[in-house]
Formats: sequence, C-alpha cells, structure tokens
Amino acid sequence: MVILVSSCKSGLGDYDPTEYKIDSLLSVMTVEEKIGQLIQENGGQGHDEDIKRGRVGSVLNEVNTENINRLQQLAIDSSRLGIPIIFARDVIHGFKTIFPIPLGLAATFNPELIEKTAAIAAMEAASVGIRWTFSPMIDVCRDPRWGRIAESFGEDTHLQSLMGEAMVKGYQASALNRQGSIASCAKHFVAYGAAEGGRDYNTVSVPENELRDVYLPPFKACVDAGVATLMTAFNEVNGVPASGNRFLLDRILQQEWQYKGLVVSDWESIPQMQTHGYTTDLKESAFEAFDAGMHMEMNSKGFAEYLKELIDEGRIPSGMLDDAARKILELKFRLGLFDNPYTFPENFPALLNEDHKEVARQAAAESVVLLKNKGPVLPLGAEIHKIAIIGPLANSPHDQLGTWIFDGDKRDAITPLESITEYFGSSNIQYAPGMEISRTKTREGFNRALQAAKNADIILLFLGEESILSGESHCRADIGLPGAQEELVQTLSETGKPLVVIVMAGRPLTFEKVLPKIDALLYAWHPGTMAGPALRDILFGIECPSGKLPVTFPRHVGQVPLYYNHKNTGKPATDLTWERMDDIPAEAAQLSIGNTSHYLDYGFKPWFPFGFGLSYTHFEYSDFRVKPAEVSPGDSIVFYASLKNTGEYAGTEVVQLYIRDMVASRTRPVRELKAFQRVTLEPGEIKDITMKIHTSQLGFHNQDMDYVTEAGDFKAWIGGDSETSYELDFSIKK
Ligand code: BGC
Repeated sequence: MVILVSSCKSGLGDYDPTEYKIDSLLSVMTVEEKIGQLIQENGGQGHDEDIKRGRVGSVLNEVNTENINRLQQLAIDSSRLGIPIIFARDVIHGFKTIFPIPLGLAATFNPELIEKTAAIAAMEAASVGIRWTFSPMIDVCRDPRWGRIAESFGEDTHLQSLMGEAMVKGYQASALNRQGSIASCAKHFVAYGAAEGGRDYNTVSVPENELRDVYLPPFKACVDAGVATLMTAFNEVNGVPASGNRFLLDRILQQEWQYKGLVVSDWESIPQMQTHGYTTDLKESAFEAFDAGMHMEMNSKGFAEYLKELIDEGRIPSGMLDDAARKILELKFRLGLFDNPYTFPENFPALLNEDHKEVARQAAAESVVLLKNKGPVLPLGAEIHKIAIIGPLANSPHDQLGTWIFDGDKRDAITPLESITEYFGSSNIQYAPGMEISRTKTREGFNRALQAAKNADIILLFLGEESILSGESHCRADIGLPGAQEELVQTLSETGKPLVVIVMAGRPLTFEKVLPKIDALLYAWHPGTMAGPALRDILFGIECPSGKLPVTFPRHVGQVPLYYNHKNTGKPATDLTWERMDDIPAEAAQLSIGNTSHYLDYGFKPWFPFGFGLSYTHFEYSDFRVKPAEVSPGDSIVFYASLKNTGEYAGTEVVQLYIRDMVASRTRPVRELKAFQRVTLEPGEIKDITMKIHTSQLGFHNQDMDYVTEAGDFKAWIGGDSETSYELDFSIKK
C-alpha cells in the first residue's frame, strides 16, 4: 500500500502538511499497527516478523549500521505501511569520543561547552544510525551514595536546568532532521535522585512544593528548550509509581506544562508497578501507565499484550491510542525518517576525529577541580626532574571512561601515564601502580611504589574508584577510598616527597583524614577518552584549573544528605555552638540551652562546599553593588562586582550569585544559586561583572501550591563558592 508520506497534496490551506500525512496514516492503520508504534524492542535478533507485521515502533541497543539498515529496510519494504523505526541508545556522555561523566561536565559550569559535547555525541551516534538518545539525566541528587550521581549534574536545580537545556540543544540542534541531530530524552521523570538512603530504585517521598521547587524545574527547562521525549522513573513518588502517576504525567506534564512530546517508560518500569504493590498484573500495569499518559513501553510487553483488550473492553478510548501513536509518528517525521530512513556513515565526519577529541580534552580539563595546593606544588615547574607515577588509576583506560559508556572503547582512551610520559620523557618517569585496581586490599605493590617514589622529586598518585563502582544500581554505603588506597597514601607520605593526589571517581568520596598527608588534590571525576592530555595540561600549568564542585563533599558519609541550599532550622549551628564530642566532660548534665543542629563528632560543615574550586592564580572581588536596592515585582535586579586576577597565571573564575529570601510564607533555603558566569582574566586584568536576574526567579510554591514571589528583604552573595561572604541587601516592594 502506498501512503502519502513523502510528498504532500497541494491546496491544503492551513492544514499542516505533516499533520496531514499523520492523519492519512492513522486513518488506514489497524489498532494492532497503532499499538505497534508504541512498542520499543531491545536490539538483537528475533524481531523480523514483528517488524514486518508493523508491531515495532522503536528498537534500542542496536548499533551496528548494517543491522540497523537491514531492520529499517524490513520496516520500509516489508511492512504494510512502510513506517520507519527509530533506533535508540543510551548515549550519555559521548558515543565513541567519551567526555567526562555528567557530574564532571557539571563541574565545568560551562553550558556552551556542554552543548558542544552533546552535539558531537549526536553526530557520532547519528553516523551509525542512532536517532534517539536517553539523555540528559537531570535528576537533582543530594546523596553521593547513589551510584547514578555520576550521571547527574549534581545537587543544584539551577545548574541541572542549564546543563540539561544545553544538552538538549546540543543533541537536537536547530532541527531534528538536520544531519547529526538526534532526539533527546530528559529523564527520569521525576525525583529518581531522591531515592531513600541513596539506594537505587528506592522509595521517594517528597512534599509537593519541594517537587515543584527542586526536582521539576530542570524538566521544565528541558521542555521549554524543546526536548523531544521524556522518560519516566523507576521509583514511586509519594506512594504512586512514576510510570503510572497521573499527577505527574497528566496534571503536571500535559495540563500544566502543555508538553507535546513523547513519554517513554524506563526499562520494564511498567511491569514493575506490580512489584511496587500498585497493580495486580501486567494488564493493570499497562492500563495504569497508558491511562496516566505513557506513550511508549521500553522492552516489556504490557502494551503489546493488553492494550487491544483494554480498548475492546472500553477502558481505554481508541482516541487515546491515536494520540499516542501520533506522538511517535510525529517524532519520526520531525527526524526526517520518512524521507531518509537509512544511514550512510561515509556521509558523516569520522568518529573520534581530532576536533571531537579536542573538545573532549577541553571538557575534561575544565571539569578538574583543584581542592588543595599547598606550597603551591602545582603546577609542576622546572625544579621537577623526576616524577613517580603511582596509583591504580594512572593507567586504567577502561576506568577513566566512567559509567554508561556502552560504545566507548578503552583502546581509544589516552591515560595520564601515557600523556605525562610522552610530555616529560620516559627516562624521567618511574611508574609503579602500587595496587592493581582501586579495590585491591593487599600491600604487595607498595614496595615497588615506594622505590619509585624515593627516586623522584614528586609523586603523582592517581586514586579513586573504578568506573563500575558508580552508575546504575552501583551505590555505596561507605564512600571512602576503596581497598588499601588510604594506606598507600600513608606509606608514600612517609617518604617526605611532595605528594599530589589526582582522584578519578563517579561521586564525591570521603578521605578527609588523608588530606593533611598530601600536598595537592585534584578531583578529576571520570574524565573520559582524553583524561591523559587534560590532566597533563592541568598538572604542567598549560591549563589553569577552573572546575567547581557541582555537589557538596561531606566529611563523613553519616552527614548525608548534606547540601548547600538547606533550610536554616530554628537552631542553626555555628562554630561557637558546635559542641565537640571530645570536649564534653564525663557525666555532663543534659542541657536544652544553647543546643544547635549538628553532629557531636562531625559538626555541621561539609568537607568542601558546593561551588568550591581553587585556581593556580588568585581572584580578588571588590566593588559590590545591587541596583535597584528596592525592586518592583516584575522588574529585574542587576548585581555588580569587580574581579581582578591578582596572581601570576591567566585563569578562569566561575563567579556565582546566591540569594536568600529572608522571610517568606514558606521557609526558604539559606542560599540558592541564581546565576553564574565564567570569567577569564590575564594576570593583573580587572573585569566588571554584571549579573541580572528577574524577580520571577525569586519565587517558590506557597502553601496553596501557587508559584509566588513575595515582597520583603533578600540577601545576595557574590563569589567563588557557596560559602562566599561578600554580601548585599535588596528588597522586593509590596
Ligand atoms: C535506565 C535508563 C536507561 C534504560 C535503557 C534503564 O535501566 O534507568 O536510564 O535509559 O535502562 O538502557
């Protein structure tokens, strides 16, 4: 049968030609064919017959172009209506060229750069036939135990929103049918990062106002940026699984946001509703999900097996099926799949080409956060002649790539050992890993490491976590350095040689006790393919570190959740009120006077605050002003400061603006990030900084769940991290 899909009838008036084609298709599709569009199958063999019968709308995890084109040809030539398939894949932080894990990308505070990484990932994925990625993951996360914190942009709503939006723009470009564009998918809707205890898939209980003020805005930002698809979450939200949650999928997404795109389930999250204890069987799970607003089912068979029955029984109106099938057809038209269903890799730039690798190097370098630099020992100068490279992550091409790298290949990864050896000359490098992997418990390799250290002017010690220790369902209750790494630090510190620790990890780790034993600490996350060149550049001062922490680093896991934008409480702690455990006399009387909110053993402060990161140079802030100091609702407020590079290196500072609504009808966090700017300065250079925000950015959801900006006094802080003390006052008029 020939359907009017690639040419359009003239004389349609206002009738959108694509809508016309979709209507034409829907008018001749059987119920089974419409349901077929809602089915996403996992790749591999065995789908040919279903494809020929029009029972497959999308295939995930098929990346072999020959197979993709073969399956596509089956759909086009052998199915009744010739509707193309969308091939999907988790392209999370790069396809072949692997960029830093998303948590590392967030540390760059550089949305323009992040957009470029997504555009490259899209181009590479599209070149093999992938036209839909399940990224960005924009789950705000305040718990470093959760393995998927690696895949998130951290703990802050504003940063998540900007990074998510940048990725959507990068993947989708100006139009989905442009060469190299792919559809993106904001996930996981919603609050997946708030899993109880940081255990993956766990229960989420979040008050509605917090859902609206903290967890939903990044999704709204992606929807406003035109994200083509959204994925539901595995977890329940306040007692109702997200995949069948009418409040989330219908009320918020459809009614309030008027979202027009496609909603896909997570992998088997529909049948899991039964395991949650929400439905009796697969048929009811399919009903709950579809009725709530789900359009496509990933991998499981609820829609395939039961939607027809549910329609025949009258429980699902057939118009709803048309609406769902329309979403998928629309996406296929937008992607240009009806006109260009096949992939010709030779028409695309080469995978892993030099331009792609240079962006990966830059992103990795900008993601590195300098947390300590005593001396300063860094950057390495002319006085260094011999270097000892030690540690399980110095030469671990697989682990430096991080989690979710289905298509990344360790053979393409350049390790720090390789880059530093090439740059510094192999005769001046002594390499001894000390430990085989990050979890090695024995001290067998210590002697050789010690020997290498003794012969060197400085030790570069690469520690952290292997990539498999973070990511989906890879959560940790103890977030310290695994294996014998702390002992390795101790042993090496006893040599008295300057000790620089470079950490590669998928989350904030706690190793506060090690800090006094080391001279410098660079946090590099899992930096990706170009870890080696990026770290070489940072260590030797070819680049100045500019990364900032996108997440609070606790001193001890027992402090979690610990995040900068917490509430004040009625009894906030200060250094003066913190009652230290060791100072309490024996048999001290219990008092209720002067008590504050803290731990006796770990106090109330983080190890490193959100937004923190040092540089090789120094930045001096001055001349803070706000205009107007009293603003009318609906107007903008402009903050000014002057920034001077007072050090000896050219460098980039991430200037951050935080605010606090001092009194509100619902208590507000002690600080909230509202804007940031990367400012690059030569030594001695001064720049005037201007940051503008609108009063509508200062609102929240009140007791009636209305978004309001209330009149009254505010404070603002400008500086290089969330604890900056440069303070300004302003107010919103009644
Ligand atoms: C993850 C999703 C992912 C999907 C497909 C699930 O387990 O939660 O984020 O997109 O698998 O691989």
